[in-house]
Amino acid sequence: MESFTELTLEPSIRDALKKMGYEKPSPIQAQAIPLIQEGHDVIALAKTGSGKTAACAIPVCDRVDVSRTDIQALIVVPTRELALQYATETQKIGKLRGVKAYAMFGGEDYSLQRAKLSHGVQVLIATPGRLIDFIYKREVDLSEVATLILDEADEMLSMGFYDDIDFIIQCLIHEHQTLLFSATMPQQIRKIAQHHMKTPREVVFEQKERIPDTISHRFGFCQHHDRDEVLLGMLKKHSPKQAIVFCKSRVQVEQLSRSLGRNLREVDYLHGGLSQEARRSITGKFRSGRIRFLVATDVAARGLDFSGVTHVFMYQLPEDPETYIHRAGRTGRMERSGEVLSLVTSREIGALKRILELMKKEAIWEGDPPRNWDSIKDSKAPPKPPRGRGGPKGSSRPRRRPPSKPKS
Ligand code: AMP
Repeated sequence: MESFTELTLEPSIRDALKKMGYEKPSPIQAQAIPLIQEGHDVIALAKTGSGKTAACAIPVCDRVDVSRTDIQALIVVPTRELALQYATETQKIGKLRGVKAYAMFGGEDYSLQRAKLSHGVQVLIATPGRLIDFIYKREVDLSEVATLILDEADEMLSMGFYDDIDFIIQCLIHEHQTLLFSATMPQQIRKIAQHHMKTPREVVFEQKERIPDTISHRFGFCQHHDRDEVLLGMLKKHSPKQAIVFCKSRVQVEQLSRSLGRNLREVDYLHGGLSQEARRSITGKFRSGRIRFLVATDVAARGLDFSGVTHVFMYQLPEDPETYIHRAGRTGRMERSGEVLSLVTSREIGALKRILELMKKEAIWEGDPPRNWDSIKDSKAPPKPPRGRGGPKGSSRPRRRPPSKPKS
């Protein structure tokens, strides 16, 4: 589809899309919007970066009756960051039509949320826990919801929200349309679809496991205790415009952020243990470019759309290759180019092999590969450290740790 004019849309929606710089529908939008407009239930296998938010927000904003003040579309998302992101996109798309969209999530003041709802919200974006609180207290009226959207359904399940989602769906006893977006299709999601959706149309995007060709992947083999220095060398060498550095745990995120902060400016961190306010402030600063290096856990960064990220660094490889794909997808948004650089220690060779297998790629090493990499890549033998001093070339790894420098 070459232009949004090929879709039947209110002129104010088209104008808003033009203002946002959206010239033509992304593939998911071209396929899903007409189905949604025809009133079908839709299951879309789509990940962030595909334009899935607007694939829903466009038909929803186009259809909402702006003369009414009741909730006509309910969007359930796993995290507050996604809720905010969804609300921002919906507000932009519906701005000229006067659509009122609002994000409601845990950690924020109930009375504020109550007041907001009482002023009239037509599109409510909510995380499961806070929404259920409001349902129990009978402080949210879902009786006019015409469209229910479950976004990142697989992520909601992996965060333990299955019963919550089931409960929310059961609260909508009247006729409505259900749209389910998920990057993967585990059995439990199929179950939700079978039980609660009416002959859903499936929109499957081959890019589910497809990694954009515009992203390059490189790996730096190093010793466990050298990781901070090797990473710092890589960051200095590649000098990213904006980067996310992934770690496995909150503790590691904080430690690494402190360690990098001694040598680099504009470093901050994001993880699920931060207060709501702190998370919002950090994502805002990162989006506006005031933070250059964001050290983060997977949960915090999942699904977030930071379009300026030029590089993704992995301080540790994830066990699950799908997680690698999700992390890598934080760069190269909408087919822009991006670079992914990961540190690999001998303990992570197994994880690396699984990632390469999934991507159907050969490893490109930044610096020396593990000794006898060619023979170990197909075997189960643990690798030996590289010859010589070890560490990737160009990482300018000193023999000893440099003294900590105060932030200049
Ligand atoms: P999403 O997959 O919803 O997280 O969207 C990924 C990014 O694509 C966001 O930055 C959107 O603003 C952007 N985007 C969505 N639809 C379009 C479009 N049709 N043209 C250009 N950019 C878009």
